[in-house]
Amino acid sequence: MPIMQLKEVNKYYKSTNGNKFHALKQINVSFEKGELVSIIGESGSGKSTLMNVLGGLDSNFEGNVLYNGKNIGNYSEKELVRYHKSNVGFVFQSFNLIAHLSILDNVTLAMTLSNVSKAEKEKRAKEILSLVGLEDHLTKKPDAISGGQKQRVAIARALVNDPDIIIADEPTGALDSETTDQVLDLIKEIAENGKLVIMVTHSDKVAERSSRVVKIDDGLIVSDTLGITLNSSKDNDFKEDATIKAKYTKKNLSLLGSMKLAVKNMQAKWSRNVLIALGSSIGIMSVILMLGLGNGVNTYIENTMNSQVNPLVVEVNMPTKVPDPNDTNPLASIMEVTPFTEEDIAKLEGIENVTLVEEGFSGFSLGSNKVTLNDITATFMNLNTLSAAITESDILSGKMPSENELLVTQAMATTLANGEDENSVIGKEITLDAVANKTAVSATQKISGIFAADSLSTSSVYMNYTTLGSLVVSKEDIELEPNVMHLTANDKDNREGISDKISELGYQGSAIESITKIFTQMSDIFTYVLAGVAGISLVVSAIMILTVLYISVVERTKEIGVMKAIGARNKDIKRIFTAEAFLIGLFSATFGVVIASILEYFANNLTFKYFDVNMIDITPTFILSGMLISILISMLAGVLPASKAAKLDPVEALKRD
Ligand code: ADP
Ligand code: MG
Repeated sequence: MPIMQLKEVNKYYKSTNGNKFHALKQINVSFEKGELVSIIGESGSGKSTLMNVLGGLDSNFEGNVLYNGKNIGNYSEKELVRYHKSNVGFVFQSFNLIAHLSILDNVTLAMTLSNVSKAEKEKRAKEILSLVGLEDHLTKKPDAISGGQKQRVAIARALVNDPDIIIADEPTGALDSETTDQVLDLIKEIAENGKLVIMVTHSDKVAERSSRVVKIDDGLIVSDTLGITLNSSKDNDFKEDATIKAKYTKKNLSLLGSMKLAVKNMQAKWSRNVLIALGSSIGIMSVILMLGLGNGVNTYIENTMNSQVNPLVVEVNMPTKVPDPNDTNPLASIMEVTPFTEEDIAKLEGIENVTLVEEGFSGFSLGSNKVTLNDITATFMNLNTLSAAITESDILSGKMPSENELLVTQAMATTLANGEDENSVIGKEITLDAVANKTAVSATQKISGIFAADSLSTSSVYMNYTTLGSLVVSKEDIELEPNVMHLTANDKDNREGISDKISELGYQGSAIESITKIFTQMSDIFTYVLAGVAGISLVVSAIMILTVLYISVVERTKEIGVMKAIGARNKDIKRIFTAEAFLIGLFSATFGVVIASILEYFANNLTFKYFDVNMIDITPTFILSGMLISILISMLAGVLPASKAAKLDPVEALKRD
């Protein structure tokens, strides 16, 4: 049985005007192993079309092209890949070597697609390259060798997996007569070793040196004549070796293999890829920085709040009253704070993780609250009782008040000192006039210390709840009713839960806490808006990567055609391009993280110098999620170009210049 047999093969091309062009007409021909066949004919007669059909690059024909009795037109994709890998090797007029790969890598590529180990594929490639006389040029790029040498590399590449058939479309068309002779000798030797070599040629001199000449005219075989007799080869250089095929074509391209190829491909356009990675790193960098800034600001707000109050203590207020429109004095009803009942207190005492429940009073008055020392009067707005929330650290000088003692704020102390040192008022007896529980009290008290109020606080007086209680009882014979409660948590971590529980029960937290909450929420919103804006730059970088990969696919169309001809699956092509997208993503993520960290360092140095805080706080989570997002985005951007590359028609791709 002939190795290759064509039966009634017809090939039609769709031409632009919608008609069909009949390129191969009723072709009936057979080829045997060990033949060196020249296909000759005018330009446009159908020689390349026939080669593409024979080589399984074009399966869109009518009739039967039988390889070992099986029609390659009916091959599955898998069988076709196998055919390209193991049974047929291509040699082209324009060599079609991959410019950015070394001679050695060009030859090993076919084995890379079969996941052959580096040592093994290099051994085999060196062996075949020395057979074609190129053992001294392994590391050179195709640009650095002559045309004849390039064609010998291409022949080595075609032979590396030991195919039965070599298909050569004008292999000497681009060579001078001397190198033509050398390449022809090589081709003849291959046929003499038992392979079927089918080559297209324009040259009669070339045709004369083959064992058979088939002439095509206008899609028809018009003659088929015998030429010279080939001698069976004396040496076994290119003899068929079944173990090679078995060894070098079995497996498929591995993930690692595609990654390594991607790295090699990217090295070819190194500066472009670095620039793209840098450009797209800006997006991920801004996202990480913005999240870090938001985090830093929130931490700052939280710390500020915690330094103001005892972190264990939760302040509880009664819910704000809605003013009654029928009230004759609606303002008074707002000013009046509802006291806690026994029942309220019992509820608060029932909250989990609370170790101490303190009754307190906080009164606000405009004008009627004052302390008087030696005819000098200092007015104040707030009359407060002490709780666990206030500690020694809140006292600027002096000590915590005991019975019938009180604290004044610094501004009040300054007023009362009347030009002398403010600390001189400590220990002095003063007259206190204030309103508590709707009761005007007036009593002599001692200043025990000065309260360290921050600049935001109004002037206030602090005293013990029992002291204030006894003042009210002695005046009106009624009990002081608490209007603020302080709960002490057993642990800092339980504070939040207690805080949540009191709002659940319908009470309110402290004003400062709600203000902090609002600030935190505002800074969160701010952060998300900024991160959103930064996210837009991620989209921009995705488009950038998409464009570059598209350009890369267009630039490398021919390379993709070659890869398919030597047995790359669509999947493999897709994988290689996806791997390139992944690497760009990885690089840009790394750049982004590094730049963000450097900026964090400098920004924090600056804010620490002037405000004593680190404004940006980038966590490992931000870095990790930023990197993941960056890689994901570039891989998504790679999907379209990669599948475009995978879908390229090998015949069209190989025609491209
Ligand atoms: P040869 O290699 O002998 O010069 P080809 O096999 O390349 O000729 O082409 C044979 C005929 O088919 C030519 O007339 C050419 O114009 C036509 N042809 C080749 N490829 C296509 C195609 N993709 N679409 C339409 N017509 C084509
Ligand atoms: Mg041609």
